[in-house]
Amino acid sequence: MFPASSVLPVTQEQHDQHRSKSGFETRAIHAGYEPDAATGAVIPPIYATSTYKQDGVGGLRGGYEYSRSGNPTRTALEGNLAALEEGERAFAFASGLAAEDTLLHSVCGPGDHVVIPDDAYGGTFRLVDKVATGWGLEYDAAPVSDVDAVRAAIRPGRTRLVWVETPTNPLLNIGDIEALAGVAHDAGALLVVDNTFASSYLQQPLTLGADVVVHSTTKYAGGHSDVVGGALVVRDLELAERVGFHQNAIGAVAGPFDSWLVLRGLRTLAVRMDRHCDNAERVVEFLAGHPKVAQVIYPGLEEHPGHAVAARQMKRFGGIVSFRVAAGEQAALDACARAEVFTLAESLGGIESLIEHPGRMTHASVAGTALEVPSDLIRLSVGIETADDLLADLDRALG
Ligand SMILES: *Cc1c(COP(=O)(O)O)cnc(C)c1O
Repeated sequence: MFPASSVLPVTQEQHDQHRSKSGFETRAIHAGYEPDAATGAVIPPIYATSTYKQDGVGGLRGGYEYSRSGNPTRTALEGNLAALEEGERAFAFASGLAAEDTLLHSVCGPGDHVVIPDDAYGGTFRLVDKVATGWGLEYDAAPVSDVDAVRAAIRPGRTRLVWVETPTNPLLNIGDIEALAGVAHDAGALLVVDNTFASSYLQQPLTLGADVVVHSTTKYAGGHSDVVGGALVVRDLELAERVGFHQNAIGAVAGPFDSWLVLRGLRTLAVRMDRHCDNAERVVEFLAGHPKVAQVIYPGLEEHPGHAVAARQMKRFGGIVSFRVAAGEQAALDACARAEVFTLAESLGGIESLIEHPGRMTHASVAGTALEVPSDLIRLSVGIETADDLLADLDRALG
């Protein structure tokens, strides 16, 4: 059912780069691509081609036949991502949700069951609740920070996936990846970690026992708010075959231009993330001492309930900061409107700082449900501008 040819061959050299032989930054810059044999091009070309000349019927050069099945620019990105996450193989998609949909089709069928976070990314919740249930998938939701609750939500023999985000959006709850992997594996299920918020630099879930990593590469991986993309990275070859088959069969692949942009983003992921974290720490310190702020939510704070787990499994605590405004919803909306360096917009993970009101924007669709977020909550995606300018802007916005 899953022909070996559904996964393109990789050279031994590329395969070795998937292993953690060299440092993260070295892999980010070199893994997945060797300078072009014909021209020496140091950066992979954008292979804007749908098809490939065959040297006699079936004589494929490097395994390339048709660009839904494989494209060299996409292969370079996939090799790089696999190396960064220390996975067996990676697969690049047209969006994070396209990656998620392909994973659900690869692993689940009618009557199967998945456990998702009770504060899952809204698009993930909609995909499972409104689309996957239509073809017979069942689900339960549990808080990722509560291992016992996740265990209780599993239906032995029917649960195929335990789906986790950590940190979650926008309340930055933390799931213990190692413990959750044990819970999933005890029940014969796979552990999926949406690693979008942490990024491959701050957290490598496969090394902690997860089976699949999901990314919206739209966010930190691309990092410049100029591309929409997604990825799956898997730990073993059998699952890689299944995902590779479904990637080709469903066809929601990343195009060559988008692949090139995401790969360019990954080259600088480490330096960008360190600056995102530096600036987020400054912002957290500033907000924690601000009289108009009621509460700052950041896994790097010792009072955060997930701090100890986050400190164990993340390199640093990330670039997303949420906080509650003491004077309530209208004051939070006013602050969003007054910010200037922080741009009022959805999404996150780009070089520019963004501010948003989850209750009215990203999380408006969960108002009135158990997933409702506080109305005085503001979420910041802290960018890599001059930190002093960010603090001055927040001070002005808070009035
Ligand atoms: C944005 C996002 C997604 C969905 O990705 P798209 O690229 O928008 O399809 C999934 N998970 C998380 C955590 C996200 O932030």
